Amino acid sequence: MTMEQQRLNEYKRNFPLIQQLMDREPVSWINPNRKPFDEIKNLPVNMEDILEAEALWHRFQPFFMEAFPETAASKGIIESPLQHIAEIQKELKVSGNLYLKCDHALSIAGSVKARGGFYEVLYFAEQIALKEGKIKKTDDYAKFLNEEMKDLFSQYTIGVGSTGNLGLSIGIMSAKLGFQVDVYMSRDAKQWKKDLLREKGATVLEFEGDFGEAVKAGRHETNQNPNGYFVDDEDSKELYLGYSTAALRLKEQLDEQGVRVDAENPLFVYLPCGVGGAPGGITFGLKEVFGDNVHCFFAEPIESPSVLVGILTGEMDKVSVQDFGITNRTEADGLAVGTPSIFATPISNVLISGNYTIRDEELFEMLARLADAENIYVEPSATAGLFGPQKVADYVEKIGADPSKINHIAWSTGGLLVPENEMKQWYERGKSYLR
Ligand SMILES: *Cc1c(COP(=O)(O)O)cnc(C)c1O
Repeated sequence: MTMEQQRLNEYKRNFPLIQQLMDREPVSWINPNRKPFDEIKNLPVNMEDILEAEALWHRFQPFFMEAFPETAASKGIIESPLQHIAEIQKELKVSGNLYLKCDHALSIAGSVKARGGFYEVLYFAEQIALKEGKIKKTDDYAKFLNEEMKDLFSQYTIGVGSTGNLGLSIGIMSAKLGFQVDVYMSRDAKQWKKDLLREKGATVLEFEGDFGEAVKAGRHETNQNPNGYFVDDEDSKELYLGYSTAALRLKEQLDEQGVRVDAENPLFVYLPCGVGGAPGGITFGLKEVFGDNVHCFFAEPIESPSVLVGILTGEMDKVSVQDFGITNRTEADGLAVGTPSIFATPISNVLISGNYTIRDEELFEMLARLADAENIYVEPSATAGLFGPQKVADYVEKIGADPSKINHIAWSTGGLLVPENEMKQWYERGKSYLR
């Protein structure tokens, strides 16, 4: 249901962009609420939180190496490459340099959710183990694979609402540690993701409704259980901090590749956005590390611009895209969110440089172009960042940056676990639009 006509008219009058969003015109929006980083006070999270989160990842390195042998080569650290994508840069006529941050290749979960989702489950497991005296922070965390730990964790049920990828990351990690895990899947969730989760030992509950409804049901059910713990994608500090540590690793990768980030050589980062937690947490981390020399943009489907609507109107999580007659129906299941995160959105409000929207057809086209140019295969959601450089021309002019000195990073957020036949269909679909 859309909101009452009078209120709607008021929004349209105050924010002319609303009409364009309602007309499904792709938009580029510069955020007037962004503040210089050192003027921002009283955020609910800070650099110390990021460093503490990073320390948790380090404590769990021995656990990862043993539980997931594919992480042995990286010594139990889950990280993705930063790749210069020169071929598609040429094709898209992007000045400066264009990089892909390859979170589509993150091991085990195959998406950016390996950052936030794994982090929150590990954080919860550690809290219980510390409380029960089963571990000290100086211990070898391979201990988390002992039978005694599994028995302990089996008394708890972790719940999560998801369009797919968050469920995969929470389900896989929870099951590995011995938790019971219930994943409440929205109607967008792909069948193969449900099958994979069941195979890993998670309980999958299917909903006809969208992401917001799956979260609501999951929250309600899980909180009825005294030993229940709900991973709340609409309001989670732990997910957020898990995502934020990406910034520390990216800084290292940029240093290794000799990429300078300063006022003259700004970094532009384009992040596919659903509820706003992953792009928000990463943006927060990047701002802590690079301050005003990094410029972050969120990318949303034209049918699911939830964070844009929340920030534009100033209502944050109090409005949904459905209030404006926008459907939240998109093939980009990772981004199919109608109402933004209550935790992340007010922070993004003062940090992000802007936001843009993309049609589904364009996402498929980009999927095929990336495959042809770079031999990189990602899911439709994950291509949204690649539109960034063309979308921000007005902003570049506004801040007076030299286009030839900008390093652009498109954050590629998912794809590794996608079955080959599904990927082939997406690719063919993209090719058919390009013809
Ligand atoms: C979850 C997800 C995102 C966005 O993360 P949010 O926290 O929902 O904003 C982007 N891309 C993919 C593939 C995802 O799974």
